Amino acid sequence: MFSLGDRSLQRLQGTHPDLIRVVQRAIGLTLVDFTVIQGLRTLAEEQANVASGASTTLHSRHLLNKQGFGCAVDLAAWVDSAVAYSPLQLYDQIVLAMKTAAAAENVPIEAGADWQTFRDYGHFQLPWATYP
Ligand SMILES: [Zn+2]
Repeated sequence: MFSLGDRSLQRLQGTHPDLIRVVQRAIGLTLVDFTVIQGLRTLAEEQANVASGASTTLHSRHLLNKQGFGCAVDLAAWVDSAVAYSPLQLYDQIVLAMKTAAAAENVPIEAGADWQTFRDYGHFQLPWATYP
């Protein structure tokens, strides 16, 4: 069983507590270890991501919501002490763990891996409708 490292916990600061609960439960379930790449972003960071093509929108869940929380996290597989972006099958396990954890915590989440236009494998967010 895996656990979140200090760096991952630090990167979750400012993220909505419901989403943090899901991530914390997921790390206990997942068959593939993962690390938190990013939670909350500043507008300047998001603008830079759009400029570089890493993000397609400034209407991002990584920015503060009306309640003052970040509502998205980017996770990455952690294999042999390094971030692994492939094979994509690693992310199937992480997505499964996140969805199972979300159901257990009764928190609705959306997985970027399910998006048709811009598949974003390590991205998870709280829905706008429930967390405006
Ligand atoms: Zn993201």
